[in-house]
Amino acid sequence: MALNFPAYNQTEILDFLKAQVTDGTVVTDPEKVDEHSYSKQLAGQHGPALAFIEAGSIADVQGVMKAARRFHIPVVTQNRFTSTVIGADAVDGAFILSTAKMDQILELNTEDAYAVVQPGVINNDLDQAARQHGLFYAPDPASKKMSGIGGNVATNAGGLSGVRYGSTRDNVLGLKVVLADGKVLDLGGKTTKQAFGYDLTQLFVGSEGTLVVIVEITVKLMPLPLGDSLMGLAFFKNMETLAKATTELRMSGIYPAMLEAMDANTLRALDEYRHTSLAGENSAALIFRVDSISPEGRQIVDQIMDKYGAENIRLATDEKQQEEIISLRQDMLPAIFTGRSAVMEDMAAPTSKMAELVAYIQQLSAEHDDLQIFTAGHAGDGNLHPTVTWSKDVTETPESVNEVLQAMFKKALELDGTISGEHAVGMLKNQWNNVELGEEVDWVQHQIKALFDPMNLLNPKRKID
Ligand SMILES: Cc1cc2nc3c(=O)[nH]c(=O)nc-3n(C[C@H](O)[C@H](O)[C@H](O)COP(=O)(O)OP(=O)(O)OC[C@H]3O[C@@H](n4cnc5c(N)ncnc54)[C@H](O)[C@@H]3O)c2cc1C
Repeated sequence: MALNFPAYNQTEILDFLKAQVTDGTVVTDPEKVDEHSYSKQLAGQHGPALAFIEAGSIADVQGVMKAARRFHIPVVTQNRFTSTVIGADAVDGAFILSTAKMDQILELNTEDAYAVVQPGVINNDLDQAARQHGLFYAPDPASKKMSGIGGNVATNAGGLSGVRYGSTRDNVLGLKVVLADGKVLDLGGKTTKQAFGYDLTQLFVGSEGTLVVIVEITVKLMPLPLGDSLMGLAFFKNMETLAKATTELRMSGIYPAMLEAMDANTLRALDEYRHTSLAGENSAALIFRVDSISPEGRQIVDQIMDKYGAENIRLATDEKQQEEIISLRQDMLPAIFTGRSAVMEDMAAPTSKMAELVAYIQQLSAEHDDLQIFTAGHAGDGNLHPTVTWSKDVTETPESVNEVLQAMFKKALELDGTISGEHAVGMLKNQWNNVELGEEVDWVQHQIKALFDPMNLLNPKRKID
């Protein structure tokens, strides 16, 4: 039997924690803690946590960090818990620090076009609030109705309109963060430009809860584009042709605001789910949108569609018809996940090499009879989401899943790509840190971690660990 002489018991730890935060914010009932410990997709891998804390203020966050330092307790910051990379699941004995209840829009400035928000604000709620003033919040992950701005910033979330408006990173002006030692840093500002000091704001964007806790965010808002948006659905002979058409649309000067691809397997899954017949002879579909479309822009779209043999093209400028087209994209994940065990992946290649990555994924799919791979993604960014699925009757994840994922990752890197385009790293791909970045960069990243979090309290075993 291993000897162990703990300095404190759980009651002492929890009593101290409760004394640091607002009454009623600490949840210790094991069943309730469990609800917040495991994400649905890859459940049962980690935890259990010691407590779930629903912070309502910056002082609560500081209180949690004080208790964590005193007792060396890991802190997993969690927001709306939609991470697909085991980013916010519990680690053993952790405090789960939720920022979801810090959900207020603190300021919406229509003159200088920015908003100051708390981390728990749902992406779509901010966007809708801005739209009432003729503005919009551009980053639009497919989870925009579920995920919060804090999580979006912590993962540098991308989305459907990233090809035109960038990822979350490109839309963050400033942050307020709590350090592991409890101090608050107020970073960045309300100007669209700032060239002072080292850019800590951008260091913390995408830091996945491993360096700081984000407690306030200042984001850029954009004026709604003038005129009509043109949305279209077009079918191509295969994903390679679609990828070439996508590259040409992107480079044509019309600045598409959406270029979303779906392969034949995905179309078949949608047909099953929606009782439609999209697949038929079609092997690949592209959903595209161009904002403020001009007659010249429309001509360019027609020419490119023609050149690459697009068929069954549906065009819509009317909002209702556009919603019908975009609902295909929204139904894609439920369609794929229904009745299957699945791992959704996220990788990107330079757009000129996306066709090669797609072809390789299709080859892997053909080589593995026990798996089905559904490939879709933000084609304008070269960002693919191959979802590897297997039968629900097979209870253990087949070894072949690991084999194909490793093969895909290697191929993406070989093509000068990345194995995380937007979903971040979490615990799913942290072992690839020095493979993707190289040992020297890996070392510097660990030095940055040690600078901000010398006790390794913040989201340990994630991102770089
Ligand atoms: C159906 C579906 C579709 C999706 N589509 C997309 C997509 O198109 N693009 C995309 O990028 N992602 C997508 N995702 C992934 C996910 O929604 C994003 O990663 C999102 O940004 C997570 O936000 P969240 O509020 O749920 O954060 P959580 O899942 O709670 O946390 C995510 C990470 O951020 C850290 N974190 C959370 N809050 C804070 C904070 N206050 N301070 C510091 N760190 C914090 C956590 O520790 C964790 O590492 C999708 C997920 C689902 C389920």
